[in-house]
Amino acid sequence: MKLRDLRVLIVNSELASQLDIGLDELSEENMFAVFSGDVTTFDLPPVSMAYSGHQFGYLSPQLGDGRAVLLSERVSKNGQRFDIHLKGSGQTPYSRRGDGKSTLRAVLKEYIFSESLAALGIPTTRSLAVVLTGKSVRRDKIHQGAVLFRTASSHIRVGTFVYARLLNNTNSLKTLTDYTIAREYPDINLDNPTCYQTFLESVIFRQAKLIAKWMASGFIHGVMNTDNMTISGETIDFGPCAFMDGFNENQVYSAIDEGGRYAWNNQPEMALWNLTRFAETLIELLDRDATSAIEKAKASLARFMPTYLTHFHQLMASKLGVKVDDEHVALIKQIFALLQTEKVDYTTFFSELTRVANGEKPNKLIALFNLEAFDIWLESWFVLREELSDKTILKEQMRRVNPIFIPRTYLVEQALESARYEKMDDFNNLLKVIQTPYEENQTLADLALPAEKWQSQITTFCET
Ligand code: AMP
Ligand code: MG
Repeated sequence: MKLRDLRVLIVNSELASQLDIGLDELSEENMFAVFSGDVTTFDLPPVSMAYSGHQFGYLSPQLGDGRAVLLSERVSKNGQRFDIHLKGSGQTPYSRRGDGKSTLRAVLKEYIFSESLAALGIPTTRSLAVVLTGKSVRRDKIHQGAVLFRTASSHIRVGTFVYARLLNNTNSLKTLTDYTIAREYPDINLDNPTCYQTFLESVIFRQAKLIAKWMASGFIHGVMNTDNMTISGETIDFGPCAFMDGFNENQVYSAIDEGGRYAWNNQPEMALWNLTRFAETLIELLDRDATSAIEKAKASLARFMPTYLTHFHQLMASKLGVKVDDEHVALIKQIFALLQTEKVDYTTFFSELTRVANGEKPNKLIALFNLEAFDIWLESWFVLREELSDKTILKEQMRRVNPIFIPRTYLVEQALESARYEKMDDFNNLLKVIQTPYEENQTLADLALPAEKWQSQITTFCET
């Protein structure tokens, strides 16, 4: 890569400071060194990892980091171990027919979504820096090339285990499993004969919690292939993802997801499908006897849905500012049906409800529906809240789970389009509000507005 035009566009100094990464490491000078092959700052010989992946249900045995490189593995002062990855730096042994590059669009999209999820308390890989390569990248048209520096607890995926399983070598699989347990689940004692089942259940548990958070926030990942699911429980790979606009339980944004496999309401099922592929890789470790191993795997997998539902109901209860009990579950079902009928903007609804819980008049909220059935629902919500003795706590909770600002697809599009012309104001403003999603912002209040009908029809792409 010729380096003449290399330029550091964004540095996430807050994240760098959290992870004890020196800003000098992300300086232009250092980037020149890194991109000319001097990786002494980033301590590892750069490696790309192999993995398999079930893509839309079909197994691709040989994928791998086709446009990513693991540059460093660090431990922060508070003991947090993490990877630094480059995404878009060029071809690797796993690039197949791809160029290994990323467009500025794809990089900025990943930046904004990962930072939004992090601010919403949803486990995710993070974005550390964006470097413009000064080279163009050919896709549907010519784009500016860019590289994303991202951090992750690790880059071990369900697909990594599928790959190891396909090697047909129990030792490799055991080495990977023991390494992953030590790295991601250090509380599990490897000397305990049940350690592998505990591992499987721990992964299932983290994923159930993650998916509950996606669902409650209206997030649609868009491409939940097994190569895009981490063992750490962090969200990874922000391709055709989006936050839902008008509520529609079958919502799909991704242009390539024609069958709606990864629609909003399919995400829990799809996560379980992926976890079943994961459990299959562990069969030999779960028990010497295959039948018992399968029984153990099934028993662990059976815990996914109840765990997911418990978390989802808890989150929805806090979004509604009510207690978790049967009455509120009924209230959730009713509100989802009403939101669906009227295609009410999901984020706006909960944001307005929070305002009403904080004493504002419900006029705006009622206008979102213009339905008698909603007035009845609101009455029962008021009644349920009146019965509560700890309203203040629930009010506080509501503020912390109902964002005002999310990266709405139409705003992301605008920001990415302006960035093509080196105009970063839209992007920076959007970044600012999504990083403090629960705080009112008078100057940038427009960025909370839902999409107009035509804007919510925008489809999303992998951007690869
Ligand atoms: P994704 O759908 O983004 O998770 O990508 C699926 C697979 O395709 C991964 O193994 C990527 O590394 C690979 N890939 C995506 N884009 C490119 C590219 N431009 N060049 C090479 N490999 C790529
Ligand atoms: Mg991927």
